[in-house]
Amino acid sequence: MNSFLVVIGMSCNGICMRFKAKRNHDVPSRYHEGQKRCSVCEIFIKWDETYCPCCHYKLRTRSFRGWGMRKKYREETLKRY
Ligand SMILES: [Zn+2]
Ligand SMILES: [Zn+2]
Repeated sequence: MNSFLVVIGMSCNGICMRFKAKRNHDVPSRYHEGQKRCSVCEIFIKWDETYCPCCHYKLRTRSFRGWGMRKKYREETLKRY
């Protein structure tokens, strides 16, 4: 998956390191506190925009069109256990 993204010109430039979210063990999910995950950089960053400042790929959040994915994700989780 990530190798495919690199092929179409989206790759990590190391800029995301400046926005790297700190670990917080008190928060169950890192999607809280405005932290977003970039699947290209494979990092959690604190960033208000929709796109990664580093690779410009769309960041993953809980609130942003996450509902359509939810059922599929649950099915995959059930299969695992
Ligand atoms: Zn990056
Ligand atoms: Zn990125």
